[in-house]
Amino acid sequence: MIHHFFNTLHFIPDYHENTVYDIDFKALYQNGIRLLLIDLDNTLIPYDQSIPHQELHDFFEGLNTMGFETIIVSNNHKARIKLFANAVETPFIASAKKPLKRGFKKAIKLAKKSYKKEEICMIGDQIMTDVYGAKRLKLQVVLVLPIKKKSEKWYTKVNRYLENRILRRIEKEHPNTYQNLDLKRR
Ligand SMILES: [Mg+2]
Repeated sequence: MIHHFFNTLHFIPDYHENTVYDIDFKALYQNGIRLLLIDLDNTLIPYDQSIPHQELHDFFEGLNTMGFETIIVSNNHKARIKLFANAVETPFIASAKKPLKRGFKKAIKLAKKSYKKEEICMIGDQIMTDVYGAKRLKLQVVLVLPIKKKSEKWYTKVNRYLENRILRRIEKEHPNTYQNLDLKRR
């Protein structure tokens, strides 16, 4: 059913890395990216953790020092996101309902400056929410591997099922892209 409605190009990230620490932020900056929208669960911390460790404090500080504005955009509830976001002194949008456009738009409005779409990059671990949602708005996307799949909630498991189906379509329609995207997501 899915393939009648979806264009696989909406599910292909611009970049993919193992973790957020592997992302070449210098290159992103050189490519004109200034606003980073960052997913929380399984991108920065697993579902069963809530407090940022020192590496994450340094991560956000480093990005801000480089000149990026950062905003956390998560589908999870406010209490969880707020605790983390406040600790790393970063604004956030909770209950973002990704892949709907609304949460992304709210985040872009929340930014201190107004940015063009080509200056905005989403970073997340899910094809069905982070990649698809950002691509619907024509933003750049970096896909990372989920930190820990085991503790994912039922609705994320549903998304993973859909993700695997999309990956199989990408494999058929864009074999080279798929090879780069990597089999390890399966
Ligand atoms: Mg996530």
